[in-house]
Amino acid sequence: MDLAIAGRSALVCASSKGLGRACALSLAREGVAVTMVARGEEALHAAADEIRRETGARILTVTADITTAEGRAAALAVCGAPDILVTNAGGPKPGDFRQWEREHWIAALDANMLTPIELIKATLDGMIARRFGRIVNITSGAVKAPIDILGLSNGARSGLTGFVAGLARKTVAHNVTINNLLPGPFETDRLRETARQWASQSGKSQEDVLQERRAANPSGRFGTPAEFGDACAYLCSAQAGFITGQNLLMDGGNYPGTF
Ligand code: NAP
Repeated sequence: MDLAIAGRSALVCASSKGLGRACALSLAREGVAVTMVARGEEALHAAADEIRRETGARILTVTADITTAEGRAAALAVCGAPDILVTNAGGPKPGDFRQWEREHWIAALDANMLTPIELIKATLDGMIARRFGRIVNITSGAVKAPIDILGLSNGARSGLTGFVAGLARKTVAHNVTINNLLPGPFETDRLRETARQWASQSGKSQEDVLQERRAANPSGRFGTPAEFGDACAYLCSAQAGFITGQNLLMDGGNYPGTF
């Protein structure tokens, strides 16, 4: 299927690794010019080179912290007016809510709620004027099935989800859609690092922890970043113009509800 977005431009945030990188790669394969952002320059340049080599697409890079106003301004200055926006940033640390002070909440809200909203604010009216826009927010399965120790993430990402639910109905008449992609367990550095920490606390090996988590999922495995990237590219396709305000959970069937 030709997604009919060749020649479009995309800003893909937090994209030197993991799910963001996979979204950048899937869009580049469709002929989209992609601006990739991350804080670490070396990994960002390596990822951009690989994607350029594989796809021949125009890839720009911005070394910046997307959760800061300066970082967002730098990304938008390089990207120009994108047709496609994929918002993403690292998630807040786990913990007990009794330990979190106002500053922890503000940091989580900044990274996982207000950063995507600021990026939407900066790009949406241009998309509306050009009568094409696709916005995908990478959130988390924890929005639908909260995880107790991820209270900062549950709270901040739910705030974004509520905001998007209202806005996405206002933009679709202009062929601008806004959707959220909710990852369950995907095999990325982040998931491997979480397993390493859990292994050191529990005395198990990292591979045993990973295997237990795979076995606990109805699919018997983790998702691959490539599956996530391709789902993102589809939501950004010309054909997806009638899908807006949705929360697409990709978790191998882990969430047990009917809806
Ligand atoms: P990952 O493999 O650790 O990759 C994170 C990427 O984001 C890296 O490229 C990192 O590069 C970049 N990044 C992080 N913070 C940034 C910032 N402030 N500004 C710019 N770039 C930043 O993580 P992932 O697994 O892809 O996770 C992506 C998102 O999905 C996270 O919010 C995570 O909480 C959520 N999620 C993931 C899973 C999963 O199973 N993988 C499940 C649920 C939710 P630098 O560090 O160099 O900046």
